[in-house]
Amino acid sequence: MDSSEKKTNFLRQIIENDLSTNTVSSIVTRFPPEPNGYLHIGHAKSICINFGLAEDFGGVCYLRFDDTNPEKESEEYIASIIEDVSWLGFNWHGKVKYASQYFDKLYDFAIELIEKDLAYVCDLTPDQARQYRGTLTEPGMDSPFRNRSVNENIKLFKKMTDGDFDEGACVLRAKIDMSSPNINLRDPILYRIRKSQHHQTGDKWCIYPTYDFAHGQCDSFERITHSICTLEFEDHKPLYNWFLKNLDEKSNPRQYEFSRLNLNYTVTSKRKLKILVDGKYVSGWDDPRMPTISGMRRRGYSPDSIKNFCDSCGVTRVNGVVDIAMLEYHVREYHNQFASRLMVVINPLKIIITNYPDSQKEILCALNHPKNEDMGTRNVPFTKEIYIDKSDFMVSSNKKFKRLVLHKKVRLRNSYIIKAESVIYDGDDIKEVHATYDPNTLGKDPVDGEKPKGVIQWVSASEGINITLRLYDRLFLSSTPDNDKANDFLNTINPNSFSEIKNCIAEPSILNTIPETVYQFEREGYFVADRYDFNKDNLIFNKTIGLRDSWPKINKD
Ligand code: ATP
Ligand code: MG
Repeated sequence: MDSSEKKTNFLRQIIENDLSTNTVSSIVTRFPPEPNGYLHIGHAKSICINFGLAEDFGGVCYLRFDDTNPEKESEEYIASIIEDVSWLGFNWHGKVKYASQYFDKLYDFAIELIEKDLAYVCDLTPDQARQYRGTLTEPGMDSPFRNRSVNENIKLFKKMTDGDFDEGACVLRAKIDMSSPNINLRDPILYRIRKSQHHQTGDKWCIYPTYDFAHGQCDSFERITHSICTLEFEDHKPLYNWFLKNLDEKSNPRQYEFSRLNLNYTVTSKRKLKILVDGKYVSGWDDPRMPTISGMRRRGYSPDSIKNFCDSCGVTRVNGVVDIAMLEYHVREYHNQFASRLMVVINPLKIIITNYPDSQKEILCALNHPKNEDMGTRNVPFTKEIYIDKSDFMVSSNKKFKRLVLHKKVRLRNSYIIKAESVIYDGDDIKEVHATYDPNTLGKDPVDGEKPKGVIQWVSASEGINITLRLYDRLFLSSTPDNDKANDFLNTINPNSFSEIKNCIAEPSILNTIPETVYQFEREGYFVADRYDFNKDNLIFNKTIGLRDSWPKINKD
């Protein structure tokens, strides 16, 4: 989508206005993930907004890790996030940034706040602090440590920094207003003691800034103009602005909120996704059933289909739930346009063409895409013995069945018309079908006038290649697995969300595949060569999506 075609939204209007009134000369945005899990579809939306706005308005966007919680964070998550943002096709400005690279500056700011008598060391236990905080309807109470002198606070904060206190013994708090109707302004915590190694700063620090303290200041250090986040941070904005006002270093980032992306049949919370991974309900963060960017990648979703989906959701301040069918629509649309076609038989039934010469092998030519000749052609060998899908043959049937029926004809895709002459049984099972072909029907209708209605896929029995298909269905049966705060979402896991079918037969040109290639297996759906497990000896394909929405209506509660 070209930027001029993009639908306007309130953020674009704000930026257009800021640029036209010279409030800012160019825009600077940032995507600020905490490296405590893999990115999911909700983050993709935030990425598209932040990087997309910078691209469209000629500004820049930073990738900044909000790494203020060392216990929950890791290098693995950092690497995966960097990979996912690049894979989506976005480029961040300069080097990757980390909140931790500003720890020294943040520390100096904390000292400055103490010196201005706007911060104090508080020894309340977490339980006591909760009682003093008050509730949404009752004001809080001043901590008994609130009136410590500046000198005492400096001394105590330095002791905190030197590791002289145990974890939880005290915290540094801002001195704002314990009776504010906004709980975020009731003397929020700036620093807490955590005696753990940090993935970037090692054991340099045993105190770490809170998200609220670090975030706005990092925006200010980086000269962010538009700090875009989700609606749950709206109540934090007065605090964000309080920090900026009291610690201004001539930068004036402004925070704007939009509504989170929620999808039905999906959980979008890193905490819950981590439970699925740790509990081995899925094979990992990049399991193809996961709504993570790496999971969708492994499932065969293209970056463009994810971006088109995010764009189509729009940017608003109204919370809602988007139907997952919309994401799937964009995945299907993309592959319908760009995926090469190939014939694969999932449940093979042997057909012997009795009037075809025994050892003959004809190389037929097939278009890779029926509507796009630029995608080229491929060779498809035709031989006396072929496979068709079991479900494409019936001994007798009504007119609705437009495939192969005993004594009737069908067209083989990219090939001849055949007629089923007899059925060979093995007990009650059909072992094979004997058929005849009409040599005058390659790429043209039969001369005798009788034209079969159906077209089916097939593969040469001697030339076909065995492949394995991994089929995936929705991970949750409930359309609202994310509704609860507890872990009830585990009870709605779909027990049949994964299955594997071995010994499917594909055209030999499949041997040219490289991992992550997506095909349309004609009449079956879109499949991707698995990013990790596909190799020349084990051709494993993941089902990306069916050709049409086939999720039973019955499950649409
Ligand atoms: P989670 O709830 O999954 O842990 P988070 O908000 O804690 O997500 P962060 O790493 O802090 O995760 O998120 C980075 C950015 O992505 C934030 O600006 C956040 O607002 C945005 N974001 C997270 N989830 C969504 C979502 N569902 N829709 C839109 N933006 C999101
Ligand atoms: Mg967060």
